[in-house]
Amino acid sequence: MSINLTDPIFTDERKAREHFEAIMWPNGPICPHCGCVDKVYRLNGTKHREGLVYCNNCNGSFTVTTGTVMESSHVPLNKWALAFRLMASAKKGISAHQMHRTLGVTYRTAWFMCHRIREAMRDISGDELGGEGKIVEADETYVGGKPRKGTSGRATQADRKTPVAVLVERGGRARAIPVEQPLGGVLKRNIAANVAHGTEMHTDEHKGYRGVHKITGAPHLTVTHYTGEYAREDIHVNTAESWNALLKRSIVGSFHHVSREHLARYCDEVSFRWDRRKIDDTTRAVAAIKGAEGKRLTYRRSRGAQPSQA
Ligand SMILES: [Zn+2]
Repeated sequence: MSINLTDPIFTDERKAREHFEAIMWPNGPICPHCGCVDKVYRLNGTKHREGLVYCNNCNGSFTVTTGTVMESSHVPLNKWALAFRLMASAKKGISAHQMHRTLGVTYRTAWFMCHRIREAMRDISGDELGGEGKIVEADETYVGGKPRKGTSGRATQADRKTPVAVLVERGGRARAIPVEQPLGGVLKRNIAANVAHGTEMHTDEHKGYRGVHKITGAPHLTVTHYTGEYAREDIHVNTAESWNALLKRSIVGSFHHVSREHLARYCDEVSFRWDRRKIDDTTRAVAAIKGAEGKRLTYRRSRGAQPSQA
């Protein structure tokens, strides 16, 4: 990953603000309170906060970060710009420690910034994977869990690995969500919610996928792992396994111990980069910044989010 750290958007707060405004407001400021675009006025001068805009329609004021994951953050926008760029381009993720050192913010602040950017990366398009003539591979992977020594040997809830249901369109996008248990009902509901009708499904012989053709209305082909038959012509789940490997490399390399509570966010981050693997790092960072809009924080410090839980 090569980043031009002398780019003014990473060093100058005003340049960074202009960068965010150009991405979020390509046609000028939009009031996040009422959606007004024609009765909004920039409040210039030393009396006002930098970037403040007044809305004559609802008598509210706002900046480019209002109503985004950056709202109420005191971190300068040039540091946010660098954080977005780092996370958008880090193939195996970036740890909160690395972010803390690179940005010169506290570890706690870096941890919250990483989670806010993951929230910006979350896909809320509702677009389904697959479609007529397309193949979606479904697979499960297991992550987390802390093996402990010296206990009675009984695994507690925190020791157990969390199953993640993974769906990857061959040559396309990925979607993965942690599940309580990889039971047929759970896996099939996930497919019904995320895969378009008419999609050919490829899975292993996990019995949870039996009958999946009834959901998609298209062939369901299975590959048998235990006989050593990994790929029968084009019937395989190798693409899903590549996604699984990427998640695991990110956890080992950067995220370290991932609590069950935050696993979905790490999955979103890995899928975000996967879905945009063919575009350059700068364009991917712009996509992440666009995703920050309309996602005011969905969790609060008071809900018990702790940096120590990674
Ligand atoms: Zn307004």
